[in-house]
Amino acid sequence: MAEPIGAATIDLGALQANLATIRSRTSSTIAAIVKANGYGHGMVPVGRALVEAGADYLGVAQLAEALDLRRHIPDVPILTWLYAPGTDLADAVEAGLEISIGAPWAIDEITAAVTRARTPARIHIEVDTGMARGGFAPESLPEAAQSLAKAQARGTVEIIGLWSHLARADEPASGETQRQLERFADAEDVLRRAGVEPPIRHLANTAGILWHPDTHLDMVRPGIGLYGMSPEPAVASAADLGLLPVMTLTSTVVAVREAAAGTGVSYGHTERTEGSMLLGTVPLGYADGIPRSASSRGPVTVGGVRTRVVGRVCMDQVVIALPDGAKPGDEVIFFGAGGPTADDWAAAAGTIGYEITTRVGRHVPRTYREVQ
Ligand SMILES: *Cc1c(COP(=O)(O)O)cnc(C)c1O
Repeated sequence: MAEPIGAATIDLGALQANLATIRSRTSSTIAAIVKANGYGHGMVPVGRALVEAGADYLGVAQLAEALDLRRHIPDVPILTWLYAPGTDLADAVEAGLEISIGAPWAIDEITAAVTRARTPARIHIEVDTGMARGGFAPESLPEAAQSLAKAQARGTVEIIGLWSHLARADEPASGETQRQLERFADAEDVLRRAGVEPPIRHLANTAGILWHPDTHLDMVRPGIGLYGMSPEPAVASAADLGLLPVMTLTSTVVAVREAAAGTGVSYGHTERTEGSMLLGTVPLGYADGIPRSASSRGPVTVGGVRTRVVGRVCMDQVVIALPDGAKPGDEVIFFGAGGPTADDWAAAAGTIGYEITTRVGRHVPRTYREVQ
């Protein structure tokens, strides 16, 4: 078999240590978020490791992911919040998934699904408190509360949770989080007046957990911090927060050349070597998830020396500056243990750490390191 062009090593021990670090900041129930293939780390192995380390819940955005997760991990409660009108929710209800309801059409879908599934649906009511993305708007909540109260009285739904999502928790000084908390309390009042009192109220993402303790309520939903990245490196780096990198993305030098001063490198010759320089070709490119916007900047480590991408990132390869003595076959660390951080790549690419790990192609093999 041909050697793979790159590899992502996933350190499950680091993931579990990050869960413990987050656990030390809150006494609320923890719903570990494993959407988008576990932020690119692999939904099922990451989900299993988190449950083993004591996560109380798992959360994924898409219903299809939730069904897949349930097939692999039978016992833990699973929260899911994204599906389209017309989706048959009966399988999800039968599988005991905890389904978010955040629009009038979703009440109709869940009621129809329960008739087919012949078992009550376990639901979490989503309210929009300032994200303008999902959930009942304040104007539509009173009517929804009436329908949900009726469904609850009929035994069609079991209302487990009330939740919302924070828009600006990564800006500790923004007053918006406090305003969202107030709107959340208003929504709770509206539901209470209709006779609906969901036992699990949840609002906080990683930034809420770290920087807004009053948002912890009954349950928190950490994602990014579990994977060893900061929600906002400008506020605190992952290292400052005691979070360990989980994914290490590596590849190998496949070609080495001594380039004379002034050599144009890669497409468009957007960069020319200043002096004579040792260049290496590495077989990972934007098709594998290396952002092209990090051309001439993306940091890498070779033989313990920090260096960088030279010229444009290509579809399947990049050219990097090599330290003296480097040779074909040498390991190149893009990010993770012993190399730059995913947040360094985010800064180089003008994006966020979330995008760096989620975009690593599914074809790049993941190898899992268990705790010793
Ligand atoms: C992604 C997501 C989270 C986790 O957010 P992080 O910033 O990664 O901690 C929590 N809740 C919902 C609804 C999400 O979509």
